[in-house]
Amino acid sequence: LVQLRGVNKYFGEMHALKDINLTIGRGEVVVVIGPSGSGKSTLCRTINRLETISEGSITIDGEELPQEGKELARLRADVGMVFQSFNLFAHKTILENVTLGPMKVRRMKKAEAEQLAMQLLERVGVEAQAQKYPAQLSGGQQQRVAIARALAMEPKVMLFDEPTSALDPEMIKEVLDAMVSLAQGGMTMVVVTHEMGFARTAGDRVVFMADGEIVEENTPEEFFTHPRSDRAKDFLGKIL
Ligand code: ATP
Ligand code: MG
Repeated sequence: LVQLRGVNKYFGEMHALKDINLTIGRGEVVVVIGPSGSGKSTLCRTINRLETISEGSITIDGEELPQEGKELARLRADVGMVFQSFNLFAHKTILENVTLGPMKVRRMKKAEAEQLAMQLLERVGVEAQAQKYPAQLSGGQQQRVAIARALAMEPKVMLFDEPTSALDPEMIKEVLDAMVSLAQGGMTMVVVTHEMGFARTAGDRVVFMADGEIVEENTPEEFFTHPRSDRAKDFLGKIL
């Protein structure tokens, strides 16, 4: 479904992604882990073209992602993204936050968008908050709204960049549970996280990055019990 071939990304002199080759099948859940600065966020951001790439190609469903223009907006709508910070519009209600994208980009009628939004808010367990503003919700609730908002665009793939790392411990589980249920529902997902429980229950594959490279790819079970490279062993020794 998503294919990266020979992707390189430079920030000036800094070689942030080094010849990345990665294929993500439909319904697959790929967990990306690695030390700080290894390029995990940059990888996510290039997949939906929040960052341009310097070399290589990225296709989604066989279609090359254009670097800019109208086509980009359409193709980008196929890629949902959830960030570490919740990024909700502060002056819009929860319901408005979720209906905005479908109405603008997918040209959905208001009533239809609201019906879809309510279904999605229910799916992540925050339907009771629909008329409130983001500041009135807990971090865990806001992050679940962010997930519902991304899903409202009916994306083909969902990218999560450390979605639980800004949350208090007691809220992490409710967000991870929503993600596990999404994975079990067959969503194609790329998840940057150090949550090993999630990787083991929901992950099909772990991609370990260091210094802008994919160093190792394996099943979660194999990766966590028998990391092959010294860099992975060293990293796991620090976080486990
Ligand atoms: P973390 O775990 O801390 O989030 P990461 O693996 O997500 O790290 P990236 O944010 O992808 O790492 O950064 C990879 C490298 O690219 C880092 O060295 C970073 O300083 C650099 N980088 C990222 N964004 C930019 C930018 N906009 N301009 C210049 N350098 C950048
Ligand atoms: Mg990051």
